[in-house]
Amino acid sequence: MPERPQVVIVGAGFGGLSAAKRLEREPVDVILIDQHNYHTFQPLLYQVATSGLNPADVGYATRGMFRRQQRVFFRKGKVTGVDWTTQQVLLKYEEPIAFDYLIIAAGSSTNFFGVPGADDYAFPLYGLEDSIRLRNHILSLFEAADSVPELLDEGVLNFVIVGGGPTGVEVAGAMAELVDNVLAQDFHDLDVHRARIILVEQASKLLGGFSPKSSDYALRTLQQRGVEVWLETAVRSITPDHITLADDTVVATRTLVWAAGVRASDLAGDIEATQGRGGRITVNADLSIPGYPNAFAIGDVADISDGKGDGKGRLPQLAQVAIQGGKHAGDQVVRTIERRPRSDFSYFDKGIMATIGRRAAVAELPQGPKLTGPIAWVAWLLLHLVYLLGARNKVSVFVNWAWNYFTWDRGPRLILRPEVLPHTPHPHADGPDEDAQAKAARAAAGGAEPAGR
Ligand SMILES: Cc1cc2nc3c(=O)[nH]c(=O)nc-3n(C[C@H](O)[C@H](O)[C@H](O)COP(=O)(O)OP(=O)(O)OC[C@H]3O[C@@H](n4cnc5c(N)ncnc54)[C@H](O)[C@@H]3O)c2cc1C
Repeated sequence: MPERPQVVIVGAGFGGLSAAKRLEREPVDVILIDQHNYHTFQPLLYQVATSGLNPADVGYATRGMFRRQQRVFFRKGKVTGVDWTTQQVLLKYEEPIAFDYLIIAAGSSTNFFGVPGADDYAFPLYGLEDSIRLRNHILSLFEAADSVPELLDEGVLNFVIVGGGPTGVEVAGAMAELVDNVLAQDFHDLDVHRARIILVEQASKLLGGFSPKSSDYALRTLQQRGVEVWLETAVRSITPDHITLADDTVVATRTLVWAAGVRASDLAGDIEATQGRGGRITVNADLSIPGYPNAFAIGDVADISDGKGDGKGRLPQLAQVAIQGGKHAGDQVVRTIERRPRSDFSYFDKGIMATIGRRAAVAELPQGPKLTGPIAWVAWLLLHLVYLLGARNKVSVFVNWAWNYFTWDRGPRLILRPEVLPHTPHPHADGPDEDAQAKAARAAAGGAEPAGR
């Protein structure tokens, strides 16, 4: 073992960063690996997708966070597995990296639950690229409808969001505001009010993990804002221009936003560890991986008991679980080095919240009040500003929010990579490259453009 033990952390999300922060002043070398060179603040991705924020507002360059920490090193790379015998992390293109301690914080990815067509045509919202792609697509559809109004009859402005959890509710509310407050002004010669926003949820209520009061409030508020909420409704299949529901209803749409479920990052299946619910890595009470005492899994990728009742309950995939887990795993590394006994992870529940849009949110504190309306909305805004990384990002988000609030406008509604509508000449095709791109995309999808996966 080298003089300074080497701690490798896979994933620079909430969990990985928290672990690295915990260890940055300890007598260890930390190597933080991520496939992206930035951290993504996932809770605000939907605002990028709906033109409320700039992509750079919710991403933060990881190297910048540790520029003053000489013993924290960042490596950009995709981890493909772990060689437990030689204690090395395997990377897709680079040389393996040795570790004395390993913390896996690789997060999760979209779960399409095998719904046919979802993988090809649904729009997930998990990374920064997803949100930019969705923004491009939404704005492109409005441009297309403006040029070819007959497309309205084909449901080109029908936007379907699947999943009535916090993400689905937030997307639906933000879409309604974008259409009613902003695009209706921008496209004054288009009958924008024919746009439909449909939120589809399999269960009988929205916001499953919240109280009935919050669920009812979210439902009522969305409906007042023009969102159609279809409860006890499941999507059976998805094509480029329509979806089919479980009861055979066909809905014309070019946009299905998938906010219905997550599963553990693929890495969980690549490391020879036991997997629990949603493919997550099973962990011991101290968050170590069974059979590998010097390796830990934290955050979304870990299947962590909530420590209550029969022990079958699991902690939710939330930022706070990852942040607290990262700190705990860092603590365990230090305790092990100092030959002190390890401790069990205990999650401190700070509550849950979701916003529905302007002056409307729900916030629930454990054993505390259940807030709805403007108070919850202000609490939501403040909390997200506090947890957002980087002073520049905080200022930029604050300015954007203030601008949006007082002007009813949205800044960044730019189509940065034009999407081309299936079966339709692109209204603003301005060169052979774009035409060729459109043809290639249609050919690849048997005549229709794939949703950019
Ligand atoms: C749209 C959306 C909205 C959300 N809103 C909220 C909210 O309001 N409140 C809340 O508490 N939670 C929210 N969440 C959940 C929250 O973001 C997650 O629980 C949290 O990000 C988990 O942190 P993590 O560190 O486990 O994973 P992540 O933050 O996802 O980080 C994982 C990191 O690992 C990297 N990675 C993955 N695989 C590899 C690999 N093979 N090699 C290298 N790097 C890899 C990824 O690039 C990523 O940077 C939301 C999630 C989404 C998607």
